[in-house]
Amino acid sequence: MSFNPENLTIHESSRLLEEKKISSVELCGAYLERAKKLEPKVKAFLKLEEEQIISQAKASDARRSSGSKLSPFDGIPVAVKDNITVKGQTCTCASKILQKIVSPYDATVIGKLKEKGFVLFGSTNMDEFAMGSSCENSAYQKTANPWNLGCVPGGSSGGSAASVAAGEVTAALGSDTGGSIRQPASLCGVVGFKPTYGRISRYGLIAFASSLDQIGPITRDVEDAAILTDVMCGIDPKDATSLPGTNEIFAEGIGSFGDLKGVRIGLPKEFFEVEGLDSGVRKSMEKSIQVFKDLGAEMVQVSLPHSKYAVATYYVIATAEASANLARFDGIRYGNRMKADNLIETYLETRGAGFGDEVKRRIILGTFVLSSGYYDAYYTKGQKVRTLIRNDFQEAYRKCDVILTPVSPTTAFKFGEKSDPLQMYLADIFTISTNLAGICGICVPADIHENGLPVGIQLLGPDMGEKQLLRISHAFEKNRAIKEFIPKV
Ligand code: GLN
Repeated sequence: MSFNPENLTIHESSRLLEEKKISSVELCGAYLERAKKLEPKVKAFLKLEEEQIISQAKASDARRSSGSKLSPFDGIPVAVKDNITVKGQTCTCASKILQKIVSPYDATVIGKLKEKGFVLFGSTNMDEFAMGSSCENSAYQKTANPWNLGCVPGGSSGGSAASVAAGEVTAALGSDTGGSIRQPASLCGVVGFKPTYGRISRYGLIAFASSLDQIGPITRDVEDAAILTDVMCGIDPKDATSLPGTNEIFAEGIGSFGDLKGVRIGLPKEFFEVEGLDSGVRKSMEKSIQVFKDLGAEMVQVSLPHSKYAVATYYVIATAEASANLARFDGIRYGNRMKADNLIETYLETRGAGFGDEVKRRIILGTFVLSSGYYDAYYTKGQKVRTLIRNDFQEAYRKCDVILTPVSPTTAFKFGEKSDPLQMYLADIFTISTNLAGICGICVPADIHENGLPVGIQLLGPDMGEKQLLRISHAFEKNRAIKEFIPKV
């Protein structure tokens, strides 16, 4: 059977595999062929090994033909951001310091994907240690946006978003500390989902800021995001912050909201007053609000008064945690050791050569905010503001079921356009407060800007509000004006 890999979803591929219309070798082979053609331009993958992929696909086909398939998804390829460990593979975090390190174990999410028979389809590029919003901080390569090769794909999970958008793979995993799943998803026209903090185990995710980090899926549609979340979520004895599962199956009944009567959508007034919100993005937001109204949803105004402090608060808390987490990469416990005469020199040489500028900037800032003289002024204050930000959301959810905002103030920007770090930090102005509050949020492609680039909307749900959030997102996706987001790359 002939098929176009670039618009296949997990649920459609599953149906084709179940009906024996395609095999996993054909499916993965088609993606490999497409990736061979496109990778010289897109550069989404840090590693893509044909032999490894085909041997997993063959094993899956053998299971299906002997009647021992592991799940309906057996044989479907998923790419993995290069900060999630896969046993026997390198996990570089796009950093030189981890260039040759091979992981001795699987991340919990990888174990769960393997249990269901998913094919692990290479590792994707990212900003070094997930610090950035454009993938330009990768020590290895710059990933291009499949919609316009002169633009960035967003970040830090830019490789994952670009690989799915370009149709090089069915779906991918990302991680989101302040927007790193949702912002690149928006810039590349795909779905990106950050579940509630703790929903998905972080065991095997190389830590950036442990109280904010969350793994999540990047997919072609909302149903696929639900499927992968179902596969990956649940309590894990190896991650003390993971949450006990509920019995909900997110993909089940996902299309059950024919309309949105009785659903209240909160519009936070502060988010629409942000300076630098592009007029085209604003127009797309207005069109999306109309889609919700036409579906019968009630729009209510809500207020998140402390959100104006979110970026500042994030850069105190995230850098503090990063400085502690990255201390282990010293050439002795972890990391490629540089030759030096004594211990101190070994640290200096190893960390000096191994980390890029942005990572160093954050370690220095984080060390400063944690230093004994300034701890209370910055870190303690930051934690207090974090609580206020979380309280704002809890207050808002008394009046609404989900909150609607833009994902990114602009569409994808040009390489080098945000060379000033502060400009780059503001790219996450709409996504960062979600992580500080710990709640769940999704990016759904909504519109095409007059510059030809995709625009996503963000829907935010309360703690553990995934089921309702995904159903509402699905209803929007089915009713938006543009049906498919496929770049001509
Ligand atoms: N862009 C933000 C940062 O640089 C968020 C990154 C992320 O979510 N990993 O920290």
